[in-house]
Amino acid sequence: MLLHRAFVNTYALRTDIGLLLIDPGLLRGAASVYRAVREWSTAPLHTALYTHGHVDHAFGLGSFLEAGERPHIIAQENCIGRFRRYLLTQGLNTHVNRRQFGNPSYVFPDQVTWPTLTFRDTLTQRFGDLEVQYHAAKGETDDHCYLWIPEHSYLFTGDLVIWASPNCGNPQKVQRYPVEWAEALEAMAGLGAEWLFPGHGYVVRGREAVRDVLTDTARYLRVIIDQVLARMNMGQTPEAIFHAVEPDPELSTRPYLQARYDHPKFIVRNLLRQWGGWWNGNPAELLPATWEAQAKEIATLAGGVASVVARGRALLDRGDAVLASHLAEWATRAEPADRGAQALKRDVYARRMDNTQSFMAQGIFRAAMNEARAALGEEAINPSAALSL
Ligand SMILES: [Zn+2]
Repeated sequence: MLLHRAFVNTYALRTDIGLLLIDPGLLRGAASVYRAVREWSTAPLHTALYTHGHVDHAFGLGSFLEAGERPHIIAQENCIGRFRRYLLTQGLNTHVNRRQFGNPSYVFPDQVTWPTLTFRDTLTQRFGDLEVQYHAAKGETDDHCYLWIPEHSYLFTGDLVIWASPNCGNPQKVQRYPVEWAEALEAMAGLGAEWLFPGHGYVVRGREAVRDVLTDTARYLRVIIDQVLARMNMGQTPEAIFHAVEPDPELSTRPYLQARYDHPKFIVRNLLRQWGGWWNGNPAELLPATWEAQAKEIATLAGGVASVVARGRALLDRGDAVLASHLAEWATRAEPADRGAQALKRDVYARRMDNTQSFMAQGIFRAAMNEARAALGEEAINPSAALSL
């Protein structure tokens, strides 16, 4: 087997009748994947599998197709609907990913490589004597699947395992499925796999290690799910639930469950959205005044924007960047041309970026910081291209 790593893990497996390629990868990684595979094997590409239709997994087949290869392309059937949505919302996804990855020149693909064969629940494919099982599993997406190859005891999880806490609450993207995710992890743990090949991060070897990664991740999700569900059933408001629910402190220390990408609080929001409506529990915000009108009212009450800015500075200086960010929003929305207000906003979000390890939270804070920098005539600060799509 070949592992090609470029942000995403792409795997190629030799079989008696040709190659199985798992997750062709990124559009911009296509030539690199093709070169790596073709230096390693000249066997025909028999099948490509999308573990799900995300842009870092299902967009890297181009060089194989241009070379005249015609593999079966297998995906769970919801991948079709996902790709249709991508074509409808290409502009939106460009903006979202620019913000999430801090890459102002990123453009979301406007073309897709459609699957040639889809399945709903399970599919078994034989490559000569080798049996490959595909299992549908909602989780990060509605079109996920994992692969199980009993003969080798190989389990390919896609992004159901990513060496970070589950990407299960992304604030800018569509619904994720924490309950089904936990169920899929528990089903995979029951396979007794010797090898776990994740969508991102390290390969795991050894039955116990594989089982621990899978069951710990399932428990991490269930601890959040159970708290949210109990509180929703008690009739608590979404805001109260958001502030009350915390992840398991011990599981949160596992190297494969660090909240380096998503954030556990975003999982809470995602569950509230899945089981409830969009109203946040505050009646004033049901049919609200604009943020600008609210901000002007607060600034007037405070005796002017300068007072709001001064208070925000004081809060930031004593380490309360969370509360200070609300004052920065009021100040800049009440008086967008006020340089003190924009400087407060810039400094507040720079601090908030430092205060979180969640890459997704950092992306949104960075975009806010850069809005303020633009208002002040300063250059944007973006990360190096290393992690950008
Ligand atoms: Zn991924």
